[in-house]
Amino acid sequence: MVGAISAHVTSNVASSSLRRRIMSGMRPTGRLHLGNFFGALANWVELAQHDETYFEIADYHALTTAYERTDDIAPGIRDVALDWLAAGIDPERSVVYVQSAVPEIAEMHLLLSMVVPVAWLQRVPTFKDQIVALGGDIATYGFLGYPLMQLVDIAIVRGSAVPVGRDQLSHLELGREVVRRFNHLFGATLVEPEALLSEFPDVPGTDGRKMSKSYGNAIEIADDETTTTKKVRSMVTDPLKIRRHDPGRPEICPVFKLHNIVNAAQVPEIEATCRTGELGCVDCKSLCAERLNAYMRPVRERRAAIDPASVERILRDGAGRARDVARETLGDVKRAMGLG
Ligand code: SF4
Repeated sequence: MVGAISAHVTSNVASSSLRRRIMSGMRPTGRLHLGNFFGALANWVELAQHDETYFEIADYHALTTAYERTDDIAPGIRDVALDWLAAGIDPERSVVYVQSAVPEIAEMHLLLSMVVPVAWLQRVPTFKDQIVALGGDIATYGFLGYPLMQLVDIAIVRGSAVPVGRDQLSHLELGREVVRRFNHLFGATLVEPEALLSEFPDVPGTDGRKMSKSYGNAIEIADDETTTTKKVRSMVTDPLKIRRHDPGRPEICPVFKLHNIVNAAQVPEIEATCRTGELGCVDCKSLCAERLNAYMRPVRERRAAIDPASVERILRDGAGRARDVARETLGDVKRAMGLG
């Protein structure tokens, strides 16, 4: 996805306001999981309390790595939107839209592609890594350009700040370089976005690795309570705690990490009784599932109550609001380049 992004207000943004304008997004990957929820979404909801926020479902980006599987995109958009709204993204407060519903993004991407040296895109660390990981089929023109499109996503709504994890800093740095180059060539036109470095909680999947759809270890926001309980019960724990009364090592246990996120009040007790062997893993997991379900209940109830027709309305309205800003930015870019 478009990495999250953020920073302090830059000089030419929101001059009439001290609020930052934050832009972030996700690919339409379908139902989101707890890693997305406790990482990005919780942060977005918090940021939206104080800053202007633009949240984009990045369907063009989905095409950069999965151009042959487009059937998943429309349902993926709907599920991502439902999860965002359920998590507490308020479309009155935040601008929520689908990338391709703002066609100015594609036009600005084309214009900026004229001034970005290919070598800048080739040196983005994830470019070669992903080609190795995903195979040569993704070595396309579009895939090479996706970090530029990420910059356009931000720049077109004049985003001044982007919430990013450390692994996304190189993309944002490329974007900042592109803005500097453009402004140097054509005069100050674009806002240089700053990173809002965010430390997301490390949400473990059922196998102990980072929670990820591609690992098949995810607990989804929309999972029902029975499914959630089943998944928590299947989680790996300390491999040396074999019998109930064996002493455990909570510091290496994924279930303990989940307790830290959803059951902070009981963490000292769980830690102590795990170490002494008083607490067995079966009971510990049951407690974790119970707390996790209680934590997620209002979110899941909200999700179930959302009228699908209202999602379409929200996305249409959001695209209209995003386009109002995008048209202005694109107009500035074209004028600066001597077009139109
Ligand atoms: S008792 Fe809980 S924290 Fe300790 S190893 Fe088992 S599941 Fe992990």
